[in-house]
Formats: sequence, C-alpha cells, structure tokens
Amino acid sequence: MGTDLHSRRQRNHGRKLKKVLFIGFLAGLVCGLLLGALAFIIGNAWKEKRNEAENATKKNKEVSRQASFHGNAATVGLNTDTYPSKKDDWRLALVNESHPLDEGWKPELAEVVKDRYVDARILDAAAKMLEDAAGAGMSLYVCSAYRDYEKQREIFNSSMADRLSQGYGPLDAYEETKKSVAFPGTSEHATGLALDITSAKYVELNEKQADTEEAKWLAANSWKYGFVLRYPPEKADVTGIIYEPWHYRYVGQEAAKEMTEKNLTLEEYVEL
Ligand SMILES: [Zn+2]
Repeated sequence: MGTDLHSRRQRNHGRKLKKVLFIGFLAGLVCGLLLGALAFIIGNAWKEKRNEAENATKKNKEVSRQASFHGNAATVGLNTDTYPSKKDDWRLALVNESHPLDEGWKPELAEVVKDRYVDARILDAAAKMLEDAAGAGMSLYVCSAYRDYEKQREIFNSSMADRLSQGYGPLDAYEETKKSVAFPGTSEHATGLALDITSAKYVELNEKQADTEEAKWLAANSWKYGFVLRYPPEKADVTGIIYEPWHYRYVGQEAAKEMTEKNLTLEEYVEL
C-alpha cells in the first residue's frame, strides 16, 4: 500500500512536471513569437531608414555627376565634330553648355590691351576694331577677354558658395549659378575668341549697357571686323545665355556679315 501511495505521488509529481514543462514551452513559444515580431518590426523600420539614406546618397552622387560631366566631356580641343561642314574652321568653334571645351585647351595668346589677352590669330582684327571705335570718338573698356579654365572655376565656385550661404540646396545653387556664370569649360572666354567690351563711362554688366553710345557703335560696326554680338536679347532660348550687350565673339568677316544680315546666332549658323 505504502508503495501504491508512493507510486501515485510519483505519478502526480510526474504529471505536475509535465504541466510545468508544457506551460514553460508555451510561454517560451509566445515569448519567441513576440520577440520575433518585434525583431521583424525593428528590422523593417531600419531597412526603410537605410533605403532613405541610400536614396539620398544616390541623389547627391547624381548632382556631382552632372556637375563633373560638363568639365570632362570634351577631350579634344575645340569641339566642332557635330558640324562637319564647318568643323575645320577654328573661327566657328562652338563652345556652350552642350559643347564644352577641353580642360587643357590653351590658345596661343597675344595682348590686345593692357592685361587683356586674345587668341593671337584675332589680334589684328580686335585691335583694328578698338582703334576705329576710338577714332569715332568711342571710349571703350575691355573688361574681360581670355580666361583660363582655372579662372572660370574660381568664378563659378565663388558664385556657388554665395548661393549656398544664402540657404540654397546644392542642386538649386548649381542651377541658379549656371544661369549667370558659365560652367568651367563651357565659357567662350576660354577660347580667346571672345571679348567683353563696355563703355568706359559705364562699366556695369547689365542691360543698360546697351543704351551707351559705345554699345550702339559696336552693335552697328563689329561685323565689319569679324565680330558678332554673341548673346542677343531675343535668342536666349537658343544660346542658353541671357542678353549680354557687352560680349563680342570673333567668327571671321564672312560669317559675321551673314550672321548679322540673317539675324543668326552661332548655334544657328553652324547648323546651316
Ligand atoms: Zn563675356
């Protein structure tokens, strides 16, 4: 009997143990599921954050890729390959946002007025134009001529920095700067074929420059010397540059005459 009691107690004990084990197992299972769910939620949230960060990095990379593209696209001197009919004519070299100049391009230079240099091949034409203007009573000031890649980069970067400090985001600062300053490699001044000329009495680079006697003289006579007003007011959508009544570009006498008569920009002329 004693043994019976003992074995019953043992059985009871065994059942209790099984119950405890089962409850333990259930608790473990529930805890495991809860932890699993928690880990899943946290994991997803983290993944989302990481994707966001990755997208932001991608966007930034895109901006810097766009920025560096223009500087590196052209690898051979004056890029006129798109226009086979005029490609051998250095006077018609097209340099703009979609036709950048090679970073290493450096023309042979000649000083046209004190501290202002042009491509040596246009020295005589530029000097004659300035001389004849002076003879006609004009008082001209050449505020800029040849500018190398490095100088253009300095100007661009300092304008970019101004916008950034005004609170523009990097992409907006870049887009805004590009409207008024040519990206390094896309400025005609790097060819040595362009001159910025103002009245010596009014040296501001704005539209009022067009009202000066000097600007009017240049607009009427520059073609005789092979120069054209490169960025006319009504052609900003063609040239991509706002009206610049001071910016003159050498294209040669024949082209300058035809462009002036037909009211064509260089972009339009080289496509003929
Ligand atoms: Zn200019």
